[in-house]
Amino acid sequence: MEDNMKPTRRQFLKMGGAAIAMVPVLAMSSNAFAATNAQMRATLKYQDKPVGDQDCSNCIQFVPGKKASDMGGCKIIPGDTEISPKGHCVAWAKIP
Ligand code: SF4
Repeated sequence: MEDNMKPTRRQFLKMGGAAIAMVPVLAMSSNAFAATNAQMRATLKYQDKPVGDQDCSNCIQFVPGKKASDMGGCKIIPGDTEISPKGHCVAWAKIP
C-alpha cells in the first residue's frame, strides 16, 4: 500500500516543483500586455522625448493610456503599448 502512495507523492512533489517554477512566469505576466514594435519604431524614428512642443500626447495618432501620464499606443505602430505621451516620431501630426 505504501508503494502505491510513493508515485502519488512523487507526482505531488513534481507538481509542487512545477508550480514553484511558474512563479517567475506569473510574476512577469502582469507585464504580458506591454509590448513594443521595434521595427516600426525604427522606421518612424520614434524617440521617448518630444521635439519642441510636438509630442505623442498632442498627435492625432496617439491612443492614450488610462491616465494622461501613462504609456499608450499609436494607431500607426501596431502592437506597441509602450508609446510615451512625451514621445515623438517623424509621423507626428497635430490634433486638429
Ligand atoms: S505617430 Fe509618432 S508622434 Fe504620433 S503618436 Fe505615433 S509615435 Fe507618437
